[in-house]
Amino acid sequence: MPGGTKRYDVVVAGAGIAGLSLAALLSVQARYSVLLLESGSAPGGRFRVTRRDGYLLDWGVHACLLGSRGSIGRVLRRCDSDIRIRPAGMAVFRDEKLLPFVGEHLATVLGQKVLGTASLARFGSAALASRGKRSFEITISGWLERNRSGADLESVLKALSIGLLATDSYERASVGELFAFFRQVMRRAVAAGYPEGGWGPVLDALLEAVKRSSRCEVRLGTRLERVIAPGSSVEGVTAGGEDIEAGAVVCAFPPQSLADEIDIDPPLPEVYRKRLSALEDSVGLCIEMGLNTPITKDRRIVFSVGPPALLWAVSNTSPAVAPPGKQLLQFFSPISGKMRGDKAFIERRTDELIDLAVKVYGHTPDEEFKRVMVTTIGSVVPFAGQSRPYRPGISVPGYDGLYIIGDGVNASGLGGDLAARSAIQAERLLNGYL
Ligand SMILES: Cc1cc2nc3c(=O)[nH]c(=O)nc-3n(C[C@H](O)[C@H](O)[C@H](O)COP(=O)(O)OP(=O)(O)OC[C@H]3O[C@@H](n4cnc5c(N)ncnc54)[C@H](O)[C@@H]3O)c2cc1C
Repeated sequence: MPGGTKRYDVVVAGAGIAGLSLAALLSVQARYSVLLLESGSAPGGRFRVTRRDGYLLDWGVHACLLGSRGSIGRVLRRCDSDIRIRPAGMAVFRDEKLLPFVGEHLATVLGQKVLGTASLARFGSAALASRGKRSFEITISGWLERNRSGADLESVLKALSIGLLATDSYERASVGELFAFFRQVMRRAVAAGYPEGGWGPVLDALLEAVKRSSRCEVRLGTRLERVIAPGSSVEGVTAGGEDIEAGAVVCAFPPQSLADEIDIDPPLPEVYRKRLSALEDSVGLCIEMGLNTPITKDRRIVFSVGPPALLWAVSNTSPAVAPPGKQLLQFFSPISGKMRGDKAFIERRTDELIDLAVKVYGHTPDEEFKRVMVTTIGSVVPFAGQSRPYRPGISVPGYDGLYIIGDGVNASGLGGDLAARSAIQAERLLNGYL
């Protein structure tokens, strides 16, 4: 590539959980020279954390799906990190009652109080049987209708679509994604967890792995602008105004950005570009409350259908994220993208969520501070038409050495677990390509 200043085997663009995981895995492997680019001033992407008055705040609620047995745990182990991910249980708030669903260990599902025995058996057998593309095409409401399910199963599938798929649109959410997640839970015997010390140490551990390697360089505040692939074979990038030679390029940011913001030379085929561009993201209202006095000893993640919400006193799982004697309470409520800018709606939903916390925990939160934000949760919400088989693959078709990873691609998992999983898969593809 003429004008290139330096050559790297791999350029990874985006230092969210996907890009950081890949850079860390490649650093541990030490076979390739790697350049990790991040357009923002700090790494972490949607997993970033901030400190406030002694609290360690996530960018919203952040359960580690599949706990230590998920993909993030796997990446951490490869990086020799001993961070413990403590399992968390799940409960459903229904009919003004908090009902246990899955405890810290899967076997506790047998004692759950949310589903009748027949519904539990139907749910389990459907999740085990629903393999193949077809189930991903079926919506939750379509599946419930077809199976003439009882109100108990309906409330659970709706609650899980809120908490796991980040949508309250059961008419569009893919039941196959829920079943696929539960197959993973059954195999690994754990549903979710939270890292001891919060997510800050996880990001630090990945960055440490990168920094330990003399073969990986990190550039913050540097945006990938262009991918140069003459003859459709990647030769380099332009980033921060500089041309850089590269053997392969991995875009670790939402697929829509690859379609809309990056100049690819030669351009992506129009049909493919439009497909990426049209993918819908999920939007949520997140509230973080620092509490002067703890409101609950409960360590479980609580799902509610009305209002659609997830609540979690996350410092019960990881006390280090709140100052001694205080508590960090997180709420999340999925909303339609159309309501994003509707201030009156957001205020109303915020009040509803706080009322819900009073009902769930039996007290009014003794609030030290409250942070409210509306943000993109998943870069691709698993609606039936954009569930796993319909999302873009990791290899960008028609190009040699161009890849896309993150929580919007066709790999198994959801959210951060999917982002890390795609990084593990991209490492394998790079080993075969370079
Ligand atoms: C409030 C909230 C709650 C959530 N809760 C959960 C949860 O409980 N469990 C869960 O598993 N997931 C959860 N998620 C989803 C999870 O955060 C995401 O799935 C995950 O962080 C996506 O990681 P990523 O690396 O794919 O993308 P991102 O985190 O978006 O990272 C992409 C990075 O690329 C950078 N970038 C973009 N364009 C460029 C460019 N051109 N050049 C260089 N850099 C670029 C961005 O600045 C960013 O840092 C939640 C998300 C939010 C916002």
